[in-house]
Amino acid sequence: MNKENVLRASKIGHPCDRNLWYSIHEAEELMSEQSRRILELGTILEPVIIQWLRNDGWKVRRNPIDYSNEGISLSIEVNGGSISAHPDCIISDEDTGLIVADIKTMNDRSFRSLKRDGAVKAFPNYVDQLTVYAQAMKNSRFQVDQLAIVALNKNNCEGYIDFFDFEPERFEALKNRAEFILSCNEAPDKGDRFQDWCCGYCGFNHLCELCKKDTSVGDEDIPMTDNEDISNAIELLKEARELSKTGKELEDEAKLVLDKKVRQQNIKSVRVGNIVLVINEITSSRFDTTAFKKIHPDMVQDFMKTSTSVRYELKNLQEAA
Ligand code: SF4
Repeated sequence: MNKENVLRASKIGHPCDRNLWYSIHEAEELMSEQSRRILELGTILEPVIIQWLRNDGWKVRRNPIDYSNEGISLSIEVNGGSISAHPDCIISDEDTGLIVADIKTMNDRSFRSLKRDGAVKAFPNYVDQLTVYAQAMKNSRFQVDQLAIVALNKNNCEGYIDFFDFEPERFEALKNRAEFILSCNEAPDKGDRFQDWCCGYCGFNHLCELCKKDTSVGDEDIPMTDNEDISNAIELLKEARELSKTGKELEDEAKLVLDKKVRQQNIKSVRVGNIVLVINEITSSRFDTTAFKKIHPDMVQDFMKTSTSVRYELKNLQEAA
């Protein structure tokens, strides 16, 4: 079977349909030197992580990438072609069944999202990849009881395993998606799973007309970065702002209950387990600039101080346009 008929399971969860189509049509996928090294480092670390899993008591059957020895390489036939699958390993211990697992090395930000939100929410593309692996293994009569991402934080070598279940409906949706991509004679549109960040990381953006069209704002073309440090910093800023918004909402929700149930009953302190809540009434004064401007508009200028600061604004392309 030629390359044009084979989609890779590691690609199947990519948010852009068009990217998937390019990946099977001999298009040149560019990769920065830094991304190439990150990928290479992941491959080099894989046997090390497997050894650490074994040291922690896991039974691990590794599936070497070079397809050597007892390695398994699987494939699922779909209309128009197939999806190839090469699971990293199968792990188990005395309390679990057989778990098909993929090993991912991550930066600190990604690792924290995985631990906080779980793979299903934080990395649906990895869940899609493992869903295909699991189905391919089931088709070949391997037992699969669960799926997992084995993650290593490259900043501090912390390890974490995120477990989740195989969902047949998820596989059906992926199969339909694969069949759609395989049936396209021309590069399709981005599809409804597309997300704004995709084009910046896409190895086909040098030839994709949709990407070029979407990145211009008015007459100005906004340059795409392929620098990992800049990309990580922008995503970190976005995540920090989302977290602080969520934090504010959670704090408001908690204060609403405490106002009613504690403060209004004049309770000054209360304890839950080791956590002590102390309520202090604080009186503060602030200068009312609006009133001052109204009463002494002539004096405002004398008290104005000019300072310069940098504000980082984050917008979606559509908002920026
Ligand atoms: S550049 Fe953007 S739209 Fe084009 S294939 Fe890549 S991700 Fe999809």
